[in-house]
Amino acid sequence: MRIRPLFPVLACLSVFLSAAPQDDPRVEIVNLRRYTYSNFTRIVLDMGKLREYTSGQLQDPGRIYVDVLQAKLNPVLQSQSYPVKVEYIGQIRISQKTTSTVRLAVEVDFSRIQSYRVYHLFDPFRLVIDITPRDTKAPPSPTPPDKAFPLTDKTQPPVKREVAPQDPSLAGTSLARQLGLGVRTIVIDPGHGGPRPGTIGKSGLQEKTVNLDVALALQKLLKEKAGIDAILTRESDVDVPLENRTVIANQKRADLFVSIHSNAHRDRKRGGVETFFLNISPDLSVIELAAAENATSTKNIGEMKTILQKIVRNSKIQESRDLAERIQKNLVKALSSDLPSIKNLGVKGGPFWVLIGGEMPSVLVEISHLSNAKEEAKLKTRKYRDLAAQGIYDGIMEYIRSLGKG
Ligand SMILES: [Zn+2]
Repeated sequence: MRIRPLFPVLACLSVFLSAAPQDDPRVEIVNLRRYTYSNFTRIVLDMGKLREYTSGQLQDPGRIYVDVLQAKLNPVLQSQSYPVKVEYIGQIRISQKTTSTVRLAVEVDFSRIQSYRVYHLFDPFRLVIDITPRDTKAPPSPTPPDKAFPLTDKTQPPVKREVAPQDPSLAGTSLARQLGLGVRTIVIDPGHGGPRPGTIGKSGLQEKTVNLDVALALQKLLKEKAGIDAILTRESDVDVPLENRTVIANQKRADLFVSIHSNAHRDRKRGGVETFFLNISPDLSVIELAAAENATSTKNIGEMKTILQKIVRNSKIQESRDLAERIQKNLVKALSSDLPSIKNLGVKGGPFWVLIGGEMPSVLVEISHLSNAKEEAKLKTRKYRDLAAQGIYDGIMEYIRSLGKG
């Protein structure tokens, strides 16, 4: 019997951080930890540096495996045994599979487990396997949804959902749609924060401030008007690494991810609204914007291309594009009631780092241009910010309603 992972892991994050060639590019895996809770078991592989990995299942005996690429095993780990005192897990083995690949294999009794999940956490980078046995009661929601939560191994187990039926015709659609659950949880990501202000307008208005304010207003609308769990990646003026933002969304089992930004363009006359989903783009102005939002160089965007090609194949592109289109349309409509000249710059694919790794439809909204004096003046006002939140809210609700129609 094959059990699908609850969320097939993207497993495509790769390294372009270590651009400088070194003698041995392999990261050394130095520690394996495991924790048994009343309703699940967590296995953690510490490696410290971002590495690409793949995971899957093997039979006879049943195993869940994770292959870590560009990695070497500290010999001390090779000969160790890792007992776990639960009936649904057998032996855990870790070995140097090839000169550059380390394999972790966890023997499991697939008839006794309900689901498992392979994912990663940052600071320091580590892989996590959560295995949930059958016949345990779903734990209550671990933290109040509006509280920021620490990205540590001590976070509570994810709320369980039934394993999706294996209907091939459903491939590529979101879990929410597969399960007919609609949308329960949305992660809103106010771009930048802390020492990273993002774009700064001529009058000194900082993007991070606008983004957070609109995100808070959107959170309020989603909670109060629609009863949706709306979680912010940051609730104050702090910096959250880009990669962690979708990790938060994945951990919270979010159904949608919406990153909020304010635009900048070399041409200060340029203005308008645009919404992005993750994709490769040949458009130079999109590449420039992505470089700014990614806090990286346009050269690095080029290097992201290969990684992106892999990731894009696994992402919820169609769903993300659909969500982006509905948000874009409603946002332009809402803002034009206060700024009739606002331009609709459309929906585009773009290589935005913050959208990589999300297992749910994910979009990045540039609500208006801070680099444009007229729009900056509007972005200063409560009214315009509330309209921006309202427009995004209307787009999200339109998207949710469309799910019901399948
Ligand atoms: Zn931004």
